[in-house]
This record gives sequence, structure tokens and C-alpha cells, in this order.
Amino acid sequence: MAEHDVLIVGAGPTGLVLAICLTRLGARVRIIDKTQGPGTTSRAMVLHARNLEFYRQFGFADAAIEGGIRFKGVNLWAGGKHAGRIAFEDVGPGLSRYPFPLVYPQDQHEQMLVGQLARLGVGVERETELLSFQTVDGGVRARLKGGGVHQARFLAGCDGARSTVREELGVGFPGGTYADLFYVADVIGSGPPSNGDTHVALDEADILAVFPMKGPGRMRLVGSLREPPAEELRWEDVSKRIIEHLRLKIDEVRWFSTYRVHHRVASAFRRGPVFLLGDAAHIHSPVGGQGMNTGIGDAVNLGWKLAAVLQNRIDPEALDTFETERIAFARQLVSTTDKAFEFINNRGPIAEGVRLHVVPFLLPKLFSLRAGRRLLFKTVSQLAVKYPDSPLSAGPEGGDRLPWISFGDDGDNYAPLSSFDWQVHCYGEAPPEVRELCGARGMPLHVFPSHPGIEEDAVYLVRPDGHIGLDGASALGNYLDEHKILPR
Ligand SMILES: Cc1cc2nc3c(=O)[nH]c(=O)nc-3n(C[C@H](O)[C@H](O)[C@H](O)COP(=O)(O)OP(=O)(O)OC[C@H]3O[C@@H](n4cnc5c(N)ncnc54)[C@H](O)[C@@H]3O)c2cc1C
Repeated sequence: MAEHDVLIVGAGPTGLVLAICLTRLGARVRIIDKTQGPGTTSRAMVLHARNLEFYRQFGFADAAIEGGIRFKGVNLWAGGKHAGRIAFEDVGPGLSRYPFPLVYPQDQHEQMLVGQLARLGVGVERETELLSFQTVDGGVRARLKGGGVHQARFLAGCDGARSTVREELGVGFPGGTYADLFYVADVIGSGPPSNGDTHVALDEADILAVFPMKGPGRMRLVGSLREPPAEELRWEDVSKRIIEHLRLKIDEVRWFSTYRVHHRVASAFRRGPVFLLGDAAHIHSPVGGQGMNTGIGDAVNLGWKLAAVLQNRIDPEALDTFETERIAFARQLVSTTDKAFEFINNRGPIAEGVRLHVVPFLLPKLFSLRAGRRLLFKTVSQLAVKYPDSPLSAGPEGGDRLPWISFGDDGDNYAPLSSFDWQVHCYGEAPPEVRELCGARGMPLHVFPSHPGIEEDAVYLVRPDGHIGLDGASALGNYLDEHKILPR
């Protein structure tokens, strides 16, 4: 007999969001982590708009925004010259309620998530390590160090890049490791990069990004070294030329760490009752700050599906769509970030010239057009994530994220998503047969005024995660029957 519905291994951002999502939807979870406490270092710095939209559904987007800094713009520097600035202040209006990336250090972010989970009555069990597991009738039996044996219906491996769950499953993690060594440092300093913007500098040898942090003179440096020393790298060993090029004066280094960057995607995200999410499933270069954000997206995608299956509100086959939807996105992401990283790092003399003398000057010009900046924002903020090939997607816009529409003082069409449940949206007139069907099946129906951003009289069946399941009214009954969908 399963003691819990879901055993979540790992309390990083991915595991915490999965625990919040499942608990919020009424599932019984146990979340364990082998460490003594949450991470105390800043690591991933950017939380993107799509995840703020999910956090709004959970009710804590404002708490995140309060703790972070809105990303205003990025300055490009090449060989010590300020090449230009790409403004982010005006990119998002009309695209999302959160038209900005949020600079929000991972330690603060995790603490906020731990607090939100505690408010739902669930605590992270610390110093509890998953050693091994086996699938048994009705679920998974896990052997825990410090916790005995535990049985659950499902197991979620949110246990990071060196995942025990992935290893135990024997699932491959193909890809590679970049030769460059990355360093991260939280510093106190002054100079042009301390103006609250983000700065990216390139020179012949190195790359450095500087992010603003809360507090006077606080900044986060992320750099890469092409020729790392054989010995362990210390801050004292980091070439100071690129820092001087930025006219950055550093008074104190509060945290310094190095890490190797890999580009890998697990060859499967699901084996029976066991799932892989977050860094356990995919890792890539930090270009664009996508890693942690993708793990949070995985957690939301799996969370609502698991809860619905546990409560017999959807066909269990829906669980297969977790892999279909998320592995496709992870592969595309790893390939794009890999190309971007290879391009930035290309060592040939021509590529070097383009990298230093063309791109940093061309990009700000390219993105001086608002349309270009909006496209860039849509892509990096993950607002463009869609699942057209999913068995859960039907009709022309099936699988797309629901377009966000603001009705000014009358609110927006994302407000009802806080129920985290299936719902029907009509933009204009609601056809009588749709009203009747929603009434008969207890399916929430929301009718909004027609809007230029959306087809007149459009009818969408919206999934709990805000993606369109079905675009169109005529197949509504069939879709609900086919997938055995029942509202909560
Ligand atoms: C030094 C450093 C700097 C980074 N900088 C950036 C950056 O600038 N930008 C960026 O986007 N990303 C960065 N990252 C990556 C980012 O931190 C990860 O993408 C993110 O943490 C992934 O979240 P996760 O929850 O999937 O996994 P993790 O955060 O790795 O969490 C996994 C958890 O599982 C626990 N665990 C592991 N095995 C077991 C087990 N057997 N039993 C129980 N618990 C277990 C671990 O203790 C850990 O708490 C950085 C990472 C590091 C280490």
C-alpha cells in the first residue's frame, strides 16, 4: 500500500515547484533531500516571465517580484568598448502581465518556495537520501538513507545533474562537456557595470556577464575561461583584464565558485511510474538563463497531469505527454544554447573578428527595432513554448500558450487560471451548445469580450497549465471524452 502518492527526490527549484503544484491540487507528497538545508549560494539568477505566470497561478508571483530586480537592459562590451545597449523596459507589454525577466538569486528563490510549500503544510525532509528503488505492484518502493523504506504510487527524480534516479533507471544522458570552465562570483564593487543593468563583455580570451543584485554595489559575475589552469581555479587566478576593460572596481568577493558546463538530454523522461525532471533530465550552457526555468516548467507540466491521474480525472495515457512535450522542448533548447555557446566561443581568426568586431555592435542595432526585441523577449522568457505535436493538442492553436489579454481595469484572461483546472474560454459570443456542454459537465466557462489579439468568437479549451488543449467548439465533447477529462 502506497504511503504517499508521489515521492519527490530533490528539493531544488524543480522538486519544490512540483511539490507545491501537487499539494495545491490535493495529492499527498513526500519531498526529501540529502542536504542539511536549502542552497545558500546565488547560482541561477534569472526567473523568466512564463514561470512568473505559473507563480501567479499558485498565488506567489508578487512575492518573487518583491524579492528580485526587474531586468532593464543588457549592455554589450567588446575589447573594452561599450558597443551598445538592448533595452528590455518596453519589450513585453501586451505579451504577458510580467513583461520583464526577473533577476532573483536562486538561494532567495528556493527559500521563498520552501516557505510557500510550508504554508501548504508540507516540509522538506532533510538529510534523507534516496539510495535505490524498485518498481512494484502499485508503484515504487524506495530505499532511503536516514528514512528506511518508502512506498509511493509515483517517483519524481528532481535530483539534479548527477541524478541517482536516472542512474538507477539506467537511462542514458548523452551529450558532452564544454572545455571552458565557468566561474561565478558575488561581489561588492563600483564602476559602470554597477548601474543596475546587465553587462556582457567579450575579449580575445574571456567572456564575462555582470548582473545587478539587491544591496549597494552588489553584483553577480558569471565568466568563462578558455584556458583554465590544471589546478583548482581561485578568484586570484581569474584574469582581471576583462574586469578592468569594464572599469569594474571590486572591493569584496563574497562567494566564488567554478563549474563545468555540459549539454545533455536524458534519453527518456519516463519509465513507468518514475519521472525525470529539471537538471536530472537536461543540462545546458547558462546562455539565456534557461536551465532552472526549464526545470520549473517540467514540474508544472507533470504536476497537474499526475494529480489528475491520481484523482481519475484524466486518461492515465496523459502521463506519456510529459515526455513528448518536455523532451522535445529540452532537445530544441540544448541545441540552440549549444549553437549560441559555440558561436560565442569559436576560436578561428574570422569567427574571432566577427565575435569581437561585428556581433556586439550589430545586435543592439538589430534589436533597436521593438519587434526584434519582442521576439527576443518572447523566446528567452519561454512565452513561446508550445506543444503542437502532443496528443493533448487539437485544432490550429492547440498546444500554444493561451495568448495573454489585458482588459485594463477589468482584469485579464489569466485571472481564472488560478483555479489550476481545465476551463473553456470564449472571446465574443459563447455558442449555446458550448454553454450547454459546460453546464452539463461542470466545466468552468469564461466569456470575455472579443479582442484584436484573438480571433472573433474563438473558443478554447484551456489546460490547467494555461496551454490550449483544443482550439474550436465543435470537437469539445469528443475531446473531453477521448481524454476522459473531468474538472476538479
Ligand atoms: C555553481 C553553480 C552556478 C550556477 N549558475 C547558474 C547560472 O548562472 N544560470 C543558470 O541558469 N543556472 C546556473 N546553475 C544551474 C542551476 O543551479 C540549476 O539549473 C538548477 O539548480 C536546477 O534545479 P533542479 O531543482 O533541477 O536541481 P538542483 O538544484 O541540482 O537540485 C537537486 C537536489 O536534489 C538533491 N539530491 C540529489 N541526489 C539526491 C538523492 N539521492 N537523495 C536525495 N536528494 C538528492 C540535491 O541535494 C539537490 O538539493 C548553476 C549551478 C551551480 C552549481
